[in-house]
Amino acid sequence: MPTLLENKVLRARVYCPICTHTVEAEVAAAATNSHRKLRVVEGQKCRRCLTLLDAAYILEVAGPLNG
Ligand SMILES: [Zn+2]
Repeated sequence: MPTLLENKVLRARVYCPICTHTVEAEVAAAATNSHRKLRVVEGQKCRRCLTLLDAAYILEVAGPLNG
């Protein structure tokens, strides 16, 4: 049964490998066993080059969406 910690959506800065710019995106924190993983929420597009950000690197987590 999922807990509140799983699939928590955060706002982060990610590096788009296509246009090599840093853009804001939403990332999801999934708790698996003892360590947490961050991944970019699927379906988001880079606002500069409109490429899907699924393969983007997460550079920095800015904080919760509602924070
Ligand atoms: Zn881009």
